[in-house]
Amino acid sequence: MDQYIAVNTPLLNGNEKKYLNECIDTGWISSEGPFVKKLEDQFAQQMGREFGVAVCNGTVALELALKAIGIEPNDEIIMPTFTIISCALAAIRLGAKPVLVDSDPINWNMDISQIEAKITAKTKAIMVVHTYGLPVDMNPILALAKKYDLKIVEDAAEMHGQTYYGKPCGSFGEISTFSFYPNKLVTTGEGGMVIMDDPVIRDKCQLLRNLAFEPKQRYLHEELGWNFRMSNLQAAVGVAQLERIDEFKQRKRAMGQFYDECLNDVTELQLPLAKTAYAQNIYWVYGIVLEESVMSGKELMQQLHAEGIGTRAFFYPMHQQPALQKMGLFAGETYPVAERLARQGIYVPSGLALTQDEMKIVSDKLKTVLAKAKVSC
Ligand SMILES: *Cc1c(COP(=O)(O)O)cnc(C)c1O
Repeated sequence: MDQYIAVNTPLLNGNEKKYLNECIDTGWISSEGPFVKKLEDQFAQQMGREFGVAVCNGTVALELALKAIGIEPNDEIIMPTFTIISCALAAIRLGAKPVLVDSDPINWNMDISQIEAKITAKTKAIMVVHTYGLPVDMNPILALAKKYDLKIVEDAAEMHGQTYYGKPCGSFGEISTFSFYPNKLVTTGEGGMVIMDDPVIRDKCQLLRNLAFEPKQRYLHEELGWNFRMSNLQAAVGVAQLERIDEFKQRKRAMGQFYDECLNDVTELQLPLAKTAYAQNIYWVYGIVLEESVMSGKELMQQLHAEGIGTRAFFYPMHQQPALQKMGLFAGETYPVAERLARQGIYVPSGLALTQDEMKIVSDKLKTVLAKAKVSC
């Protein structure tokens, strides 16, 4: 078999090694090292915010964000069912309740027309999750937040460098979060960031990230915090990555366009929406949704794997998660669009180090697998 094409391979050939060596040479490897502050400042500025607080991953970034804006037990937070569990977890860990909406079948983001009906006296926030490369249509959500006095938390983990009507994703609402996992547009191996404009929320995030050590007296605690710190080693990689964000963005867009050209004649596939009035897709991952009559997404993944192509399933909806159902959440709720996306959607190799030759192979194998399925039915 030819070489296996992995679903993600990061690109680490900039200043990553040089900056890591600097950490080793100077002995600055903990969160006290200078790259952490550098990454916070540079990242916040590029994403259109005043402040950044680096943390150890994108999941805890969400938990910290909710805590810092004052989410309390029994508060309700509206979010898409079609997302990663990190979003629901952040609410649940604080004793709050995730309240779900279905997805839009065309852009795969939360269906904003369903939000207002879910608002109750307990609703405190809307968690916006920009999914797979296209931002959520923010203006109607900002209007709802104003009308009902709700906070907005933006999970921009998949949107480094993306914009909504020219304004950076991650600059909307009270607070926004990012992940720097290796398949994200900027990576630190493991890592995340919370960004905001309010210095009070920044201070709160800094305190809670660092075990809530009181700034005036270490080992004295007025409240319970976490150790969510990012190390200087991670931040060193992040600073090197951030230097290339424009190039990475262009590369992702070119990859998306290339896949589009290869696959737009395959009628059984729904391809990612290339653009809307407010944004051009950044193709964090290149997702495809297969027609149900052909085969399931799972079968397609297995067949592609046999052909040497790595893929990933789309998100599995929150209302169908056994761990959440066991808690008595979402009983009897159905969200047909998200359910279909989960059954039929997969994403193909989309890492920054992927070559055009590899994308051609992926597309050809995909077409072969689908042609075979047609013959056999
Ligand atoms: C990746 C991701 C996260 C979680 O980030 P980790 O760093 O892996 O914890 C959260 N939300 C979304 C939308 C993501 O894509």
